Amino acid sequence: MAEILSHTPYIDVEPVFESFEWYMKEHSERLCSYDLVIAALGIPALDLHLNEWVWMDTKRPPVLFAWLEPYGLGGHTLLTHVAGQPGRQRGCLECLYSRPIEGGPLENRAAFAAPGVNYGRDVLGCGASYLPFANLDAQRTAELAARLALRALREEADEATLLSWKSESASFKKAGYSVTPRFLAGQDARESHHFDFGRLDCPSCAPT
Ligand SMILES: [Zn+2]
Repeated sequence: MAEILSHTPYIDVEPVFESFEWYMKEHSERLCSYDLVIAALGIPALDLHLNEWVWMDTKRPPVLFAWLEPYGLGGHTLLTHVAGQPGRQRGCLECLYSRPIEGGPLENRAAFAAPGVNYGRDVLGCGASYLPFANLDAQRTAELAARLALRALREEADEATLLSWKSESASFKKAGYSVTPRFLAGQDARESHHFDFGRLDCPSCAPT
């Protein structure tokens, strides 16, 4: 709260000393009253839970998810539950996820880092790992998210949108890791690019 207030004037910040699951359950109405919810948690299970929650009711607000790739490979922002004609426009976070091997791990189709690998690093040796990324990568993803958020709030975004930026992969490959075909596929590395990601059989956003 202190950090945010010191950098951004004219805003209110209300810290909540509980888990996000608790907040979603206990303050569902409050969450519904927002114009836009931005989730920059970087925890796929929680993000998917929020995605499922928002798609349960057309009155719930649009949600913008933002997350990073390891080792500065890139970052992503996804805007979903956007109002349009008619109703909420399909395409959501769950559309990105699939389980190609039964019983295997969930895979994110937008990812740049190959699936099924733990990219966490445990520097202190105490068992608490973290995903290596630089402050600049976080800022770049935050900028992309902020621009998309402004489009959503001005009601200029009339469809679900996934924007990604990617960087060079030298340090990632040096660490012995592989990238996905999506990372290798065309597009100028400096430009954010759109990805058509809606899935017709999505359990959350497909019409029933
Ligand atoms: Zn979906």
